[in-house]
Amino acid sequence: MAELLKGKPVVDRMAEDMRGRIAALEEQGVKPTLALVRLGQRPDDLSYERTAVKRAAGLGIHTKPYVLDEFAPEAALKATLQSINYDKTVHGCLMFRPLPTFMDEKAMCNTLTAAKDVDGISLASLAAVFTDAPDGFPPCTAAACVAILEHYKVPIVGKHVVVIGRSLVVGKPVSMMLLRRNASVTICHSKTENLADIMRSADVVICATGRARTFGAQFFGPGQTVLDVGINFDTQGNLCGDVDFAEVEPVVAAITPVPGGIGTVTTSVTMAHTVAAAEAALAARTGRR
Ligand code: NDP
Repeated sequence: MAELLKGKPVVDRMAEDMRGRIAALEEQGVKPTLALVRLGQRPDDLSYERTAVKRAAGLGIHTKPYVLDEFAPEAALKATLQSINYDKTVHGCLMFRPLPTFMDEKAMCNTLTAAKDVDGISLASLAAVFTDAPDGFPPCTAAACVAILEHYKVPIVGKHVVVIGRSLVVGKPVSMMLLRRNASVTICHSKTENLADIMRSADVVICATGRARTFGAQFFGPGQTVLDVGINFDTQGNLCGDVDFAEVEPVVAAITPVPGGIGTVTTSVTMAHTVAAAEAALAARTGRR
């Protein structure tokens, strides 16, 4: 039976670490604050917002909602993001996406300054991930994968990590973050040939395709660690990952569940980035590091 790499112990450990840091910030008169920018009332956004507000409140992080009409002009969103950039009482910003199709989403993401881009959506944040620069924050899901591997002490240095998916949200940034940690990384995608052979050759496999239960037992082998990033619904409407858990769990050494795995950790990473952004703002103000 595989070791179950649950998100909850990782979340608990991160919360313990953050509570001490938040108390230290409050002693200095700083209340870590996260702006939540939403356009309209999409059920997905509202659900994500409820989760973020609850998680923040439990830690003592303040949240500040910015709600715009679903047909608000791009200029209104840009002005909101710019006001967040200049607001010294706000340390991080989470903007719910996708934005309406009439908006230039890339331009809006790039309006946010890297120092407050706790979700890693701007080109400046991504450039830092790809160049190993210390600015900004990596995308939260990619960072959640790394947090799970580190928490469960999965060996990475010199190991072969196969990442399935090449999006800028998960596949590419997690590949760069693990390369930086001295893994040997192979990135696969929908055109990759001999995918099963490549996956079976890995020490660690990270599946981020958004294809429900696509990877069965034939893609895996003994001793492997599997991170399933996918959040999908099967034909019966059940939440499931990219991996066929029932088939794969008996084969591999360790695996993240869906739900209760990577997704659980992602929101905590956003909170940890907000705390780090507040610390950086305080250090910049006081000249201390
Ligand atoms: P994208 O659709 O942007 O990217 C999917 C990637 O998977 C593409 O690179 C695509 O290849 C590749 N792919 C698709 N099908 C296959 C296949 N059969 N074999 C090999 N590669 C394949 O998705 P995202 O990166 O945004 O998200 C991926 C998953 O992660 C989704 O399920 C999403 O819900 C989930 N997610 C989870 C989060 C969390 O917190 N747990 C947060 C963000 C996303 P190609 O480039 O060739 O098209």
